[in-house]
Amino acid sequence: MSQQRFDYSDLFKLQKQHFETVLQQERLYARKERLLKIKRWIKKHPDLIKEALYKDFQKSPQEVAISEIKPVIGEINTALKKLRDWNQPQNVGTPLTLIGTRAKVVKEPKGVTLVIAPWNFPFMLAIGPVISAIAAGNTVVLKPSEMTPHTEQLIQQMIEAIFDKKEVAVITGGIEETQALLALPWNHIFFTGSPQVGKIIMQKAANYLTSVTLELGGRNAVLVTKNTNLRATAKKLAWGKFFNNGQSCVSPNYLLIDSSIKAAFIDELKYEFVEMYGNYPEEIKANPALARVVNNKHYKRICKLVDHTLSEDGNIIFGNHRDNEENYLSPTVLTIKSTDSPIFQEEIFGPVLPILEYKNLDQAIEIINNVEPALALYIFSNSKKTQKKIIRNTSAGTTVINDTTIQFAHPNLPFGGVGMSGMGKAHGYFGFLEFTNQRAILKQRKKLTTSQLIYPKYNAIKNLIIKYITWNE
Ligand code: NAD
Repeated sequence: MSQQRFDYSDLFKLQKQHFETVLQQERLYARKERLLKIKRWIKKHPDLIKEALYKDFQKSPQEVAISEIKPVIGEINTALKKLRDWNQPQNVGTPLTLIGTRAKVVKEPKGVTLVIAPWNFPFMLAIGPVISAIAAGNTVVLKPSEMTPHTEQLIQQMIEAIFDKKEVAVITGGIEETQALLALPWNHIFFTGSPQVGKIIMQKAANYLTSVTLELGGRNAVLVTKNTNLRATAKKLAWGKFFNNGQSCVSPNYLLIDSSIKAAFIDELKYEFVEMYGNYPEEIKANPALARVVNNKHYKRICKLVDHTLSEDGNIIFGNHRDNEENYLSPTVLTIKSTDSPIFQEEIFGPVLPILEYKNLDQAIEIINNVEPALALYIFSNSKKTQKKIIRNTSAGTTVINDTTIQFAHPNLPFGGVGMSGMGKAHGYFGFLEFTNQRAILKQRKKLTTSQLIYPKYNAIKNLIIKYITWNE
């Protein structure tokens, strides 16, 4: 029944035909025109975006401006400025064995593409990849998250107002609709979401050997070493952890701290937290900077995780105030005793930070390496030697030294995971490349070519040539 209820093959065919008859031949300025349409709409309607996000999970207008609107406009501006360079064919050198040929790499769009978005930055993580897809010259079908219905609706309204569905279309809905979309032979799928669903996406894509970008989550580590400024570290963490109320793919999931500075650091963290969000439970709850947990299902999941941890090895430092009606869990910091702690076992994706002490750096590195590679590793240390040692002995999609979360805002850095935290990269040129086929073009000269020297039938001279070529490698 489900497969019959939703069938998007007509939309797919429409986009495929448009791609083959129009987009494949069009000049770059036409892509720029499409990007400008998005920019103009956003510039005209920032309040609609803020309103939708507030209705969805009380996200503050300031955070919407910083994390939903600014990165999208930034992504468009970068593409508008650099698209010509990104798209330039690249001439490549010629090896001795192919003398006489000329070779280059040309960038061509992949074709009909699908973008599937999550709920936690529901506007930016939906429109960001659409920008990369358009910049690379593709058609796009976008499936926003159903968990943030006001933003989902607004995205649909925006896309339908500025695009014909043969260029860019929005399909709203949940699992059933997404599964129906995944039954089609896309030329690329860009998915942002959980590793669990990422596996489903990859399995479905395998039916047509469709290429995928998987921007997934994970258990991001913060490593605070002895040699660091504790006040500055605490301030950056109080912001980085509770931004979007901890519902961010780059949010610190656990904090490892040298046992000798743990007590002093916790004092600083309490101080910085109060400075940013307030002192008393009601004051903190009323602080408009703090979003709510997205829905009751996630709220219950996080509360259960905290309760389970407290019944095992957890100790509250501050927080853990709740309001079931509002899906409100106040920013919570707790200490745990070991990596067996329940809260250490999963991606928290909410306003809770567990702190675990370590005795020496090697032990901290071992703890990080026993968790699958994360999207982000944060290192707090003033020692270059320590920074280098940690980087050389660990793996992560992104790493920030002496801060958290800000790597997402860098337009010239690739953003993505490694292993279980994802494959492929987003942002700027790297996002453009995900939606691009780097096509190799080799032009042979017309008559005598060097490769003819090794065609059969073989003889003594040809054997010598083959020996020379292979020996030279
Ligand atoms: P999710 O995987 O539950 O959902 C993402 C999308 O997949 C949604 O559009 C949803 O409708 C669809 N979906 C859900 N179940 C499906 C199924 N069974 N079959 C087909 N489609 C399905 O993720 P979420 O809860 O929206 O987002 C949170 C996760 O995303 C976290 O793990 C977080 O770390 C990760 N994330 C990663 C990044 C990144 O850039 N790497 C950014 C944001 C969030």
